[in-house]
Amino acid sequence: MDKYIEHVYNALVEKDPEQKVFHQAALEVLESLEPATKKYPKYQEKSILERITVPERIIKFRVPWVNKEGKIEVNRGYRIQFNSAIGPYKGGLRFHPTVNEGVLKFLGFEQIFKNSLTGLPMGGGKGGSDFDPKGKTDEEVRNFCYSFMSELYRHIGQFTDVPAGDIGVGGREIGYLYGAYRNITNHHGTCVLTGKGLPYGGSLIRPEATGYGCVYFVQEMLKTKNEEMKGKVACISGSGNVAQFAAEKCLDLGVKVVAMSDSSGWIHDPDGIDRDKLAWIMELKNVRRGRIREYADEYDVEYSSKGSPWSVKCDIALPSATQNEVDAKEAQALVDNGVMAVGEGANMPCVPQAVEIFQKAGVLFGPGKAANAGGVSVSGLEMAQNSQRFFWTREEVDKRLHGIMVNIHENAYKTAEVFGKKGDYVLGANIAGFLKVAEAMLAMGFYA
Ligand code: NDP
Repeated sequence: MDKYIEHVYNALVEKDPEQKVFHQAALEVLESLEPATKKYPKYQEKSILERITVPERIIKFRVPWVNKEGKIEVNRGYRIQFNSAIGPYKGGLRFHPTVNEGVLKFLGFEQIFKNSLTGLPMGGGKGGSDFDPKGKTDEEVRNFCYSFMSELYRHIGQFTDVPAGDIGVGGREIGYLYGAYRNITNHHGTCVLTGKGLPYGGSLIRPEATGYGCVYFVQEMLKTKNEEMKGKVACISGSGNVAQFAAEKCLDLGVKVVAMSDSSGWIHDPDGIDRDKLAWIMELKNVRRGRIREYADEYDVEYSSKGSPWSVKCDIALPSATQNEVDAKEAQALVDNGVMAVGEGANMPCVPQAVEIFQKAGVLFGPGKAANAGGVSVSGLEMAQNSQRFFWTREEVDKRLHGIMVNIHENAYKTAEVFGKKGDYVLGANIAGFLKVAEAMLAMGFYA
């Protein structure tokens, strides 16, 4: 490793030794930036890497809320305002028991480069809580969201920081959070959150955007090998927001989806999850809040609580659940089964060794910060529509989303080529995302 990169990385580990997942994300980015920092010494001279790896601000607060027995429970709340060089902080809120400062720093750091790649003026941020909405009543979730927002509201705003959803924060939670924000501030119509419901300022295609965008990205990767989506077989992990709409777009493009999962297990349906079955999954997950195991009972297919869907033979793999869900063994199984393309619907779902295995085997590999940038892109379009006090049609938003994903692909592809690593989308996406932010930071002196 280059001395400068090593020095920056070691300082991060030394300062916060327990933040392992953040170190993992930082190392992946820093290593791939080496050709750029070598080519442009000004970044080292102006300490850009030292600055970009430390959040501008970390907000940490307690969230007391009343459970269904009338007892007060307390969770931790966070907002990491990582980098605002090119626009207001932008990034989702995650409600999951595994949330801590290190996890949110990893997600906020990734978000800086992802948002830059979209071409829209958005900085990087992330937030959330160790609160687990699973198994809670609607009233408990509402109580929690109100309390969370009663602190968060003073740190966010359309020109400051615009949160959205992530794991555990879907339409229901965004509704409660926005309701609380309105109630506390008496503001309406400004874009303080994205992923809002359609009746109160949301954008068409926002729920679909991450999953659709991921499939558009994979489609672009396949084109570089003169391949098309039609007729391919896909495995998707997760059955939440990203996974559901990745599956829907696969069906639109003639891809057969044979596996999906949740945190308890996975199902394998060799006949394919068709539109009716997918609608059933959406109802199961979004309304009844049930388990994917029930799909196996309903359609008489295989279910397993052991292993992962990556043992199923497929052409396209879309890991869309959570970080570090594809290990080296699973990556090797995918390669042995002839996988052609992997698009990360989730953030950092593949461990570094898995990425290496894919790249060595010549598998097209789309890293999350490029492949799943569709969600934040349409969040940016939601902000644009809210600023105009106007709404675009479904077709218009989808066309813009598609255009953005094509651009991201081209940018990552060409950047990798310019830096001598043709086909390395990890390097291409990291450098392309970095250069814009770094130039903005340089232009603003040491305040950015
Ligand atoms: P959801 O909460 O809607 O769905 C998450 C899915 O992943 C669920 O099926 C969940 O299972 C499963 N899951 C969660 N944790 C684990 C785990 N530890 N092991 C196995 N499965 C797990 O979240 P999203 O679909 O919104 O997010 C999925 C990923 O995509 C995350 O990495 C997120 O950061 C990323 N992402 C999301 C965007 C968005 O617009 N929503 C934008 C860009 C990235 P269960 O039902 O059992 O909890």
